[in-house]
Amino acid sequence: MKHQPIPRLEVSHLVRDFQGQRVVDDVSIRVMPGQVTCLLGPSGCGKSTTLRIIAGVDRQDSGTLTVDGEVVSSDDIHLPPEARSVGLMFQDFALFPHLCVADNVGFGLSGSRKEKRARAHELLDRVGLLGDAGKFPHQLSGGEQQRVALARAIAPRPRVMLMDEPFSGLDNRLRDGIRDETLEVLKDEGTAVLLVTHEPEEAMRMADNIALMRGGKIVQQGAPYNVYNSPVDKAAAAFFSDIN
Ligand code: ADP
Ligand code: MG
Repeated sequence: MKHQPIPRLEVSHLVRDFQGQRVVDDVSIRVMPGQVTCLLGPSGCGKSTTLRIIAGVDRQDSGTLTVDGEVVSSDDIHLPPEARSVGLMFQDFALFPHLCVADNVGFGLSGSRKEKRARAHELLDRVGLLGDAGKFPHQLSGGEQQRVALARAIAPRPRVMLMDEPFSGLDNRLRDGIRDETLEVLKDEGTAVLLVTHEPEEAMRMADNIALMRGGKIVQQGAPYNVYNSPVDKAAAAFFSDIN
């Protein structure tokens, strides 16, 4: 008998209320290793709250989270963020201004100084910035800083990477290159990615799967092509209609 593959990340029936309002309403999502799922929806629909719960910086009212089949959060279990093997990257993820690029990348790692340096250099090489290892963040462009932030997020080898609109601060010219590069690096590492965006075009470009969210609920899930071509309702069709 063939095994069912275990999802790298499984979100089951997540619920979160704020002041009596249901902001996350029975959200279930699976992400397989090396796959990118985009959590796509308009501003205010509950995307960031969902991500913060998965990261462990907020807690659900009910629902279960597993990483590689191990429960990291449920009614009874609540592992702290650092015990979940889940990385978090968002738009304003600031680098430490007083640390050089290599030390920024090595900052959260365990091991000897030499080991941390080696891993930092490996990742800086991967994002094309090895030559800038000794520079300080202010000496880099916005796009370069973003690549350092990516290297830093990946350095501890998280099994899951959560990204909250990480590209929205970049200008259009830079964005495409950095998106592609980010995906390539994460796929190489076999990381499961849950990427939050409010831009259908970004989801179409980056996702293996799209989970379309509205008013706290996942209203449709599937391959980008299917979600785009067979929207579940008029509102979903309208949401995608500004792509050309
Ligand atoms: P998105 O990321 O999709 O824009 P959010 O998850 O940030 O949406 O927010 C969803 C809803 O939850 C919004 O109405 C927001 O005002 C509300 N919300 C988010 N965080 C809190 C909080 N800590 N306390 C109260 N309401 C919150
Ligand atoms: Mg948000």
